[in-house]
Amino acid sequence: QLVVDNVSKSYGANPAVLNGVSMSLLEGEQALLLGPSGSGKSTLLNIICGLQRPDKGRVVIGEQVISSPESKSTGDEVRRTSLGIVFQTLRLVSALSLRANLELAQKLQKGRVDRDLIDQCLDRLAIADRADARPFELSQGEAQRAAIARAVVVSPQLLIADEPTSALDSGNTERVAELLIEMAKSVGAGLLIATHDERLGRFFSKSFALNQGEINPC
Ligand code: ATP
Ligand code: MG
Repeated sequence: QLVVDNVSKSYGANPAVLNGVSMSLLEGEQALLLGPSGSGKSTLLNIICGLQRPDKGRVVIGEQVISSPESKSTGDEVRRTSLGIVFQTLRLVSALSLRANLELAQKLQKGRVDRDLIDQCLDRLAIADRADARPFELSQGEAQRAAIARAVVVSPQLLIADEPTSALDSGNTERVAELLIEMAKSVGAGLLIATHDERLGRFFSKSFALNQGEINPC
């Protein structure tokens, strides 16, 4: 369960990017975070993941505060144990094969490797035959699915994806959206996807729109 409580954030003297933003997701719930470019979607996701600190407000995942103005090593433990993150720029380790990337994520986040779960995810994402390839040998669509696999194989409570379909054509966009939804369900994770692509709206019953620092259900 995720609770974002009255979070504000500004960069320097600029007007606040987030101005008292509150939202919540129940355990296993799936939702979309919509908003035009520059509206603060990545900022909000980074704060939810504990990668950035808010100026005001806080984020609670389960029972634990992951982000607050006071948090020092923002949310390391929660992030390590509860979150799967698909970064917009993927951030796969280029020196390692796809399979080694997934094993590394499991070692770091779970302390052990679960080969069965890795094989299952590779299969479902249709990249099992690419498991020994390194990231630069993958097509963009394959790399995108590899990043999703890496976020899913840690069996997170919450799967967070920042513009996971930005580089894809519309056929692949729908396919990746459906896969994220299905993969999150298969490990019992909640799902929050940030996108400016309103075509994804039809896959979700719950959406939030971020605009000029404010968030509204839509
Ligand atoms: P996009 O859809 O293009 O990814 P976004 O909704 O994710 O946009 P953010 O990346 O959160 O938007 O940026 C919101 C605003 O904050 C932008 O005006 C951006 O320039 C500014 N911003 C983001 N990060 C920083 C930073 N580290 N320092 C200063 N300004 C920043
Ligand atoms: Mg962004």
